[in-house]
Amino acid sequence: MTDPDTHRATRLVGGGRPDGPGAPLTPPLHLNSTYRFGGEVGYGRSGNPTWHAFEEVLGDAEGGEAVAFSSGLAACTAVLDLVPLGGAVVAPRRLYMGTMLQLRERAEESRIELRLVDPTDTEGIVDAARGAAMLWLETPTNPLLEMVDLGSVGEERDPATLLVVDSTFATPVVQRPLERGADIVVHSATKGIGGHADLLMGAVVTRGDLAERIRARREGYGAVPGVLEAFLALRGLRTLDVRMERAQRSAQRIAEYLADDPRVTTVHYPGLPDDPGHSLALDQMDGFGSMLSFVPVGGEAAAQRLCAATRVFANATSLGGVESLIEWRGRHETERSMGTPGDLVRISVGIEHPDDLIADLDRALATAG
Ligand SMILES: *Cc1c(COP(=O)(O)O)cnc(C)c1O
Repeated sequence: MTDPDTHRATRLVGGGRPDGPGAPLTPPLHLNSTYRFGGEVGYGRSGNPTWHAFEEVLGDAEGGEAVAFSSGLAACTAVLDLVPLGGAVVAPRRLYMGTMLQLRERAEESRIELRLVDPTDTEGIVDAARGAAMLWLETPTNPLLEMVDLGSVGEERDPATLLVVDSTFATPVVQRPLERGADIVVHSATKGIGGHADLLMGAVVTRGDLAERIRARREGYGAVPGVLEAFLALRGLRTLDVRMERAQRSAQRIAEYLADDPRVTTVHYPGLPDDPGHSLALDQMDGFGSMLSFVPVGGEAAAQRLCAATRVFANATSLGGVESLIEWRGRHETERSMGTPGDLVRISVGIEHPDDLIADLDRALATAG
């Protein structure tokens, strides 16, 4: 048990630990598929003590009830499955590619009606969401770091519309959408929560009775997390606060460095004072996150050369890990189809020494130019 009056960082470390004399401090790996009858769980698809420890800590950090899934997209699928046949889903015109592909496919098959909106236009979002079954938001958005005004949307939207926020970029130490009126938060725990590029996992965190409906989908459709993954993701939660603190501080320095560099035309980072999302980020986030994107001078070719030239940043997709990553987003057809600029470079800032990260970018920009 953890003291609810302590800080979130303290509860991330102390939560989900077995209690009582002789109990192991670390919840063990329960490698098990079946249980003797008479208890709460009878079979491994319905529950597992290692998942539950992870869910207890994540749920507490977000302020809701967490349900773990086999991947972030499995979590997204379980949530989208709440939309009744033919129901309208409102989503930003640019968001995580995997979610967009699934939304488009569902719309093409007439299973949903898809309404795409500008994530920075609060009135437009609220208007589009009238009569909709679900309002799906992502903030900050991938890959342009656009900010959605969660408080205003949460207040003004029709309460009959389920408000979902994919909060993967921010993690619960930076942003807690349930406190701003969201019904459901979705995470790819593969990213910041796991934090070490060594697992795939997802989670849904909800208020009220929705957790039961989500849990029933996990059990019924079978997208259950692996036990080792849940163990590792819980270990990731223990250090999430301190990792994000370092990564955000470095991201701010890198964003300022890039914004001052004549070899770079545009930098997208809500921590920059002239970024369109800056004041909103100050209001609804505890920091500005570890993700940023920018456009180097020289177009697509320069963007590709830059990503190939770094030595500390790994040229790879994904985000939120201890290791810094750089990626030319134009490589993805889906990304281009959403209107993402072809010369955009996205970086995920890790926990290396910031001087080394900046020196690496400096060298790579010289090579690319
Ligand atoms: C990666 C990601 C997902 C999908 O998660 P997986 O664990 O890869 O299935 C969903 N949303 C966002 C914002 C992501 O970055």
